[in-house]
Amino acid sequence: MVDGMVDSLPNMRKIIHCDADCFFAAIEMRDDPSLRGIPMAVGGNPSRRGVISTCNYEARVFGVHSALASAYAKKLCPQLVIIPHNMAKYRLAAQQLKEIFYDYTELVEPLSLDEAFLDVSSSQDYRGSATLIAKDIRRRVESEIGITVSAGISSNKFVAKVASDWDKPNGLTVVEPSKIKGFLHQLPVKCIPGVGKKMQATLQNLDIHQCADILPIDKLELIRQFGKFGNRLYHFARGEDARVVSPIRERKTVSVEQTLDQDILPKESEKVLTVIYQKLLHRINGLSTNKQFSKVFVKIKFGDFSKTTVEITINKLDFECCKKLLYQGWERQKKPIRLLGIGVRLQPDMGLEDGYRQLNLFTTVKESLVL
Ligand SMILES: [Mg+2]
Repeated sequence: MVDGMVDSLPNMRKIIHCDADCFFAAIEMRDDPSLRGIPMAVGGNPSRRGVISTCNYEARVFGVHSALASAYAKKLCPQLVIIPHNMAKYRLAAQQLKEIFYDYTELVEPLSLDEAFLDVSSSQDYRGSATLIAKDIRRRVESEIGITVSAGISSNKFVAKVASDWDKPNGLTVVEPSKIKGFLHQLPVKCIPGVGKKMQATLQNLDIHQCADILPIDKLELIRQFGKFGNRLYHFARGEDARVVSPIRERKTVSVEQTLDQDILPKESEKVLTVIYQKLLHRINGLSTNKQFSKVFVKIKFGDFSKTTVEITINKLDFECCKKLLYQGWERQKKPIRLLGIGVRLQPDMGLEDGYRQLNLFTTVKESLVL
């Protein structure tokens, strides 16, 4: 598509959504050419309950996808090569990616390591052409980092995100405001953020499958059926999304969890708790600002996949307290433990008063315009 209204209307927002293609796998293929062209994935060991994090497109042909048990992925594709994670490498690439984004705008909202929204409405580069900026970003990522990113451009976050997914991998899709309605027409409702499996089933029962199916329904009727979310359905189906790109993301929890090699009882799991407690301390120390805790929690997933979380209010973290929570949680079901997690909830950062005020402003804007 060519530069259109996205680039020419002065008051129109210009949002780019960038998303690296099969990020972890792409990094591994970059560093080991023998992995290119064959089905490969980054993930945990199949014999130790590992899970696939990312796989390349050759593996996707076999039905392999992220979050799949590695053992099952191997069944689908016996020749699949599974490489263990190398997080330090991915973090470095993610940092390089972000630095490239910041060359065009300060308004970068990272969604994950390899994905971000950029608001380039006020950007001076390329005379403010979002399309040319996105092209330049894609070119630079490929030459400087050695991986590809797909990008979507539109006048709001929702449409930009759908657009970046449109022509994956290594694609660029521009959706001009006048084309939004047609672009979304056949989009499955599950692509609307917040529509999970449950909501999708509910909508299906009402014969709502695509965004177009929402259009004839009255807004009040949608609100009556779905509460606040009905309002979102109404607007998103029309490609209307007023959420701003918010560069400050307040971190609310820090947590660490571990799936165990085999299901164990709490006495045996104390050792694991010690390990993840140390990891948690390490992560907390790595936070850029001085946060106050409000709560500590322990999360347990039992052998039958049922879950429980126990938490208490604290202002100082200590191991004994976490141990108590572990036993409290276990008492609820008294079944062997499959996964153990531990984390803290943080209080808003009072030390960064300006940042905090700004964050509140963003939150208010978001809520009042979208929901
Ligand atoms: Mg990605």
